Amino acid sequence: MNKLLIHACCAPCLVEVYDVLLKEQQSLNISEMDIIWYNKNIHPKVEYDKRKKAYIEYVKSLDKTPYLIDEYDLMSFTKIASSIEDTEYTSRCDYCYISRLEKVFIYAKENGYTHVTTTLLISPYQNHDLIISVLLRLEKKYNIKFLYKDFRPLFREGQRKSRELGLYMQKYCGCIYSIDEGRWQGI
Ligand code: SF4
Repeated sequence: MNKLLIHACCAPCLVEVYDVLLKEQQSLNISEMDIIWYNKNIHPKVEYDKRKKAYIEYVKSLDKTPYLIDEYDLMSFTKIASSIEDTEYTSRCDYCYISRLEKVFIYAKENGYTHVTTTLLISPYQNHDLIISVLLRLEKKYNIKFLYKDFRPLFREGQRKSRELGLYMQKYCGCIYSIDEGRWQGI
C-alpha cells in the first residue's frame, strides 16, 4: 500500500499540487494521501501565524486533517543561517530545505508513509534543482520514495485560484533574510 505525505510550504502552493495529485492518485498507485506543514523558516512570528492559519483553513476545506509540526524558532534558524560557511550546508537555502524536509521524512518514516513530495516544487522562485538534490539525499537516507513532478507550469494557475479563494498570499519567500533581499514570490 503506497501512502504519500505532501509537505506544504504554504496554502497557495498547495492548491494546484494537491488537485493534480488527487487527479493522478490512481495512476500513481497511491492509496492514501496526507498533508503536513513544517516551515520553521518563516519569520517573523506574525507572518508564520498568518501562513499557518491559511494552511489549516485550506486543508480543512478539503476535508483533510491539517497535520503540522508547529515550530517557530527564529534564534536557531538565524544562528545557523548567519554562519553557513562554518556548517556542512552549501548555502542558507540548502540548510532551509534540508532542515524542513528532513523532519518531514522522519515524520513519514514514523507514520508508515512510503512516498514524500513537497509543494516547494511548484514555485519558479525556489531553487528547483537544489530541492531535488535534497530530496534525493533524503530518499536514500530514509528509504522513502521521493515523488517527483515538475509542478512549475501550474504555478500561475495556483496563484489565480488562491486569489479567487481569498487565501492569504505572502509577499516574500519566508526567512528574515528574504525580506531584506526582496526575494519575492512574484505574487
Ligand atoms: S530565501 Fe527562502 S528558501 Fe532560502 S533560506 Fe530564506 S526562506 Fe529558506
